[in-house]
Amino acid sequence: MSERWRKPVIIAAIEASGDENDETVVLQDSDDLQRIREGYVCPNCFEPFEVPFPVTCPLCAYPVRAEAATNLERHYKGKVWVGSRISIDDELSELEERDERKNFKPGASIVVPRGVNLDD
Ligand SMILES: [Zn+2]
Repeated sequence: MSERWRKPVIIAAIEASGDENDETVVLQDSDDLQRIREGYVCPNCFEPFEVPFPVTCPLCAYPVRAEAATNLERHYKGKVWVGSRISIDDELSELEERDERKNFKPGASIVVPRGVNLDD
């Protein structure tokens, strides 16, 4: 599996809008995009090819040689961030807080955070 062309394309996510003709495939590795550009991967089914730009994809019969470049140009939407939109520190503190709440057992003590005005 050390040969680059054999490496399977890793699809991180597929975002569907509800219309099957309007799905967005999110690739995990930018090298996979490069392999599609270089004709080593079918842009339709992501089958890797040993020899770039075959006339048709042996798996899905997509006309790779005739269509691949224009297909990619038409459909490539650029790089997007996938995952959490908060920082790792905020995420960890949120998880700790969630864990504390989950494990909270009511007791005799009641505390109020500093700065909270009780006179209102
Ligand atoms: Zn294909």
